[in-house]
Amino acid sequence: MSYRHLFFDLDHTLWDFDANAMETLADVYRDLQLETAGVNDFDLFCKQYLHHNAILWDRYHHGLVSADDLKWKRMWRTLLDFKNGSEDLAKKMSHHFLERLPTKQNLFPYTHEILQHLKAKEYRLHLITNGFEKTQWRKLDNSKLGHYFEEVITSETSNSIKPNKEIFEYALKVTKAELHESIMIGDNLDADIQGALNAGMDAVFVNHINAELNGIRPTYVIHHLRELEEIF
Ligand SMILES: [Mg+2]
Repeated sequence: MSYRHLFFDLDHTLWDFDANAMETLADVYRDLQLETAGVNDFDLFCKQYLHHNAILWDRYHHGLVSADDLKWKRMWRTLLDFKNGSEDLAKKMSHHFLERLPTKQNLFPYTHEILQHLKAKEYRLHLITNGFEKTQWRKLDNSKLGHYFEEVITSETSNSIKPNKEIFEYALKVTKAELHESIMIGDNLDADIQGALNAGMDAVFVNHINAELNGIRPTYVIHHLRELEEIF
């Protein structure tokens, strides 16, 4: 295959979302003095946050909770585990978390190296991300990734969301790329991989966490970004 346009996912593929979220929770804990609000165990605080965050994201994907409610209720439910029911504090935590998160700069190992390698080989690099426009640009700017990419396609600009076919079709249109010279590179089997395959696009599954493939058949599977050098 002679690929020319490489469409990357951002969160959990290049930008280490979990590491960045952990750092941000530490900021929230310290800056809002949660210890004085009854949250006396930081590790347990993180554990409970991740638990409620996962549940609320699942409810959001099923249309059972709005994006706005998801943002503060994951904090509120975490507070409740520490016998604090303050909605006001939960909303402050949510605001602080969302302000700080995009300033974090942890990337997966070899992110800059591989993007430089691909640029040097004259591949055209773009992003397709389900994140919000403003947030994703802040992440790219703060972690010095923006200059590698020509087009940044978000769910906001495309009016669609991975795995829906429309966001991939929109991406091809704005980049003037042909399907046969395009490939999606991402960490999410449903959104990135099955989504791309359904749109007729090849896909590289970036399997940082050794996940099961569950019957999905990516064109390529890698476990470290360095392995992209073998494909491209
Ligand atoms: Mg991702």
